Amino acid sequence: MRKLFSLTFLFLTISIYAQDPSWFYEMHDQYKETALYDRFFKYTEVEPLILDLQDHPDFEVSLEGQSVQGRNIYLLKWGHGPEVIYMWTQMHGDEPTATMAVADIWNFLSSEEQTGFKEELAEKVTLLFLPFLNPDGAEVFKRRNALDVDLNRDALRLQSPESRILKDIRDRYNPSFGFNLHDQSLYYGAGHTGVPVAIAFLAPAYNMEREVNEVRLNAMKLIAQLNEIVQEYVPGKVAKFNDAFEPRAFGDNMQRWGTSTVLIESGGLLDDPEKQYLRKLHFVMLMSAIVSIANGDYQHYSREAYEEIPANRISIFDLLIKNGVVSLPEGDFILDLGFRSTAVFSDGHQGQRQTGARLVDVGDLSTFGGYRVYDAEGYYIVHAAIWPEIFSTLESLLSSDWREKLKTGYGYFHLEEEIPSDVKAELPFLILQPGMERPSFPAIGYDAALFMQKDGEIRYVIANGAMHSIQQ
Ligand SMILES: [Zn+2]
Repeated sequence: MRKLFSLTFLFLTISIYAQDPSWFYEMHDQYKETALYDRFFKYTEVEPLILDLQDHPDFEVSLEGQSVQGRNIYLLKWGHGPEVIYMWTQMHGDEPTATMAVADIWNFLSSEEQTGFKEELAEKVTLLFLPFLNPDGAEVFKRRNALDVDLNRDALRLQSPESRILKDIRDRYNPSFGFNLHDQSLYYGAGHTGVPVAIAFLAPAYNMEREVNEVRLNAMKLIAQLNEIVQEYVPGKVAKFNDAFEPRAFGDNMQRWGTSTVLIESGGLLDDPEKQYLRKLHFVMLMSAIVSIANGDYQHYSREAYEEIPANRISIFDLLIKNGVVSLPEGDFILDLGFRSTAVFSDGHQGQRQTGARLVDVGDLSTFGGYRVYDAEGYYIVHAAIWPEIFSTLESLLSSDWREKLKTGYGYFHLEEEIPSDVKAELPFLILQPGMERPSFPAIGYDAALFMQKDGEIRYVIANGAMHSIQQ
């Protein structure tokens, strides 16, 4: 009977040599930490998740010190194997995706399920999690710490307590692999494809010559494997960060100090503003990486496969209007128009609010792309006029026949009432204060109300970074 039980148990247990990324992908929902549900969580939401693990037999939780403003910073340790893997998250306070993913990993590791897999893994690896490294920055959703120091430029001088903790743990454990986990600008594209980057990687250089030793090569090989995995879920949306050596950065120095370091940057995905899908991909990548290090799988990948990952290149707009004929007093010109949204951040979970858009580039943008791209070939693009009367309230404007006014070429309205910028940003036209002139167009840094016209008829209006049909 005992033998039968063991056999059954074997069949139910997935060996670290037999798992594949889809297994982690499928399981993620089950372990997703529900206390973290958007990008704006704070220390008071993260610390309880860490303290919950204090009594768990498989975790060691140690208080490593405090941030500048006195918030606790903890190290979580799991496993007892020879491969020491160090993961630090959110050294930039407004880059939270990986913190959510490691909380999900803790839920998986602390659960009662898949004990065979976990026991096998714990024999091979020791995991060190240093999560939420910049809690003071996260409190106000900013990159830098409370001294306004960029922790990722403090690896040598070590003036911030957060930086000293990060370095001290490395020196104490001498990890074989390190994961430097960030979020990057939403405006990186993959090479010259114009496709927004969802995930970017880097095996940072350890010297100005960007040489490759075994430490860096191992990071490259592991990234080649992670690229293959993540391409399954976000094909074409993966890139490689510039490897120029930054003497003050942690990733570069970790590599120099002998820890094979993998930088992972969460980018952007349309319809995933809170990065919950990217969080899931992070869970899949990090768990797959841990297993790969445990069983040596990454050694089957090549530096060449790493080098082939396209370059991460700032080349993305929120809205790109291509190939239209822009009709100006000076004449007609084929000009692509690239707009980016503007936003403000509020305290707490109110998060980010759109406040409009601005034109950031004009001309031949054929090597660029966007989250929303429209081909305006065959259309004239015309700067809208100002409606001659002043409206006292937004309500009176909205109850007027504004749609008819748009159809006859008016896209700016003077309004006496002051309304919040995020309310303005939702409108299919632009609001001006009484006495304000229409902004010039094209003008970098400014938004414009524009019409797309075909056969003498206005079909669309472009305002606040969005394109609206006005035919209904
Ligand atoms: Zn960062």
